[in-house]
Amino acid sequence: MINKIINSLLNQYNSFYVYDESKISSSIKNLQSNFKNVTFLYSAKANPDSNVLDYILSQNIGVDAASVNEVLMAEQRGIDKAQIQYSAPGKTKKDINDTIKICTIVADSLNEIELINETAHQQNMIAQIGVRINPCVGFDGNSAAASKFGIDENQFIQNLNSIKQLKNIKIIGIHIHLKSQELSINSLKRYYENQVALFNKFQQLLDNQLTFINFGSGIGVAYNKNDEELDLKELGEFVSNLVVDLAAKNENLNIYIETGRYLVCAAGVYVSKVVDKKVSNGETFVVLASTLNGFIRPSMQQLILSYCMDTNAMPSEPFFTKTDAYEIVALTKSVQMQKVTLVGSLCTALDVMAKDIELKKLDIGDGILITNAGSYAAVISPMQFASLNKPRQIYVKTNGEILINE
Ligand SMILES: *Cc1c(COP(=O)(O)O)cnc(C)c1O
Repeated sequence: MINKIINSLLNQYNSFYVYDESKISSSIKNLQSNFKNVTFLYSAKANPDSNVLDYILSQNIGVDAASVNEVLMAEQRGIDKAQIQYSAPGKTKKDINDTIKICTIVADSLNEIELINETAHQQNMIAQIGVRINPCVGFDGNSAAASKFGIDENQFIQNLNSIKQLKNIKIIGIHIHLKSQELSINSLKRYYENQVALFNKFQQLLDNQLTFINFGSGIGVAYNKNDEELDLKELGEFVSNLVVDLAAKNENLNIYIETGRYLVCAAGVYVSKVVDKKVSNGETFVVLASTLNGFIRPSMQQLILSYCMDTNAMPSEPFFTKTDAYEIVALTKSVQMQKVTLVGSLCTALDVMAKDIELKKLDIGDGILITNAGSYAAVISPMQFASLNKPRQIYVKTNGEILINE
């Protein structure tokens, strides 16, 4: 069904994203059926398209909000305050003021704890907040790295007495997020275990009962055939067992896991039309309607690999994951193959999607399709470049209905 829809959309639009609800739905089911007693929070920054949000937030999923606007998107969709967790560095007094009554603010620094306390005092309330902790034990089990995120575990403990003096805040939970796109089940298991230990330590240090632990994200997506998919059944069982023990000792405890990419990455594709074709000094260039300004990730890959020949270059999420983090497919009736370089129409030589690749022979009016474009794609691409039109974001519901966002 989707392929037919894409072909007909290509007659109307030059560049667009297509998000497939049935795929989002099966990812949600995979998580929710395997992780018992865990509530998932959708990291809206991965893809805040309104149709994507409408659907995900109707599925018993809360929100990991990275900005005031994302908090508002969740609030407008009726998400409960406890399940809108606003966690980002550098919140201003205005950010706190605008959100303190409608979400759970997760403080990212010692200054911010004081700022929330001051704001709550002015609003005549006691704010129930979380704190983001940079634990002493890092993701790999080594000692922690310096981080712009959260408060170092030891620093928090050193300041505990003065934090306890603050009358207008109550710390009700902790949040940890150290890594995205992890495909090693053993690393994730160790990570979750370390967090449970951290939670127990914090529960002892704080005078009141904690009501949540937010494990952050980590659950990775198998981008291609060489990636081994995470065994969610095994991981889910492991976490569920950890959680049962925790819940037995801590009444009314909510366990959250955040995820952006797992829900939407593979559910999205990017499509762009061939608008010109030329040969220069023996090289065949296929000019697409929008490359870097529609979907930046391939250009980032080109750029990174041009500086660093190592095809296992360090991931730089969410801009660069690794080589071959998506597949490029020629949408054409032709069966002949041709070696081409895919470029865009921007006035910069960096506007390259792929160099010297073998694809089915493309002609003007055909298209290319890129997989794994549902997360960190439209949101991180510089669409204001050259004042060209933005690609549409098209949402295909499970019943075949098509919703289009400009
Ligand atoms: C971006 C982000 C996530 C989502 O990461 P994914 O790899 O997309 O699942 C989760 N938590 C925090 C704090 C984030 O900043």
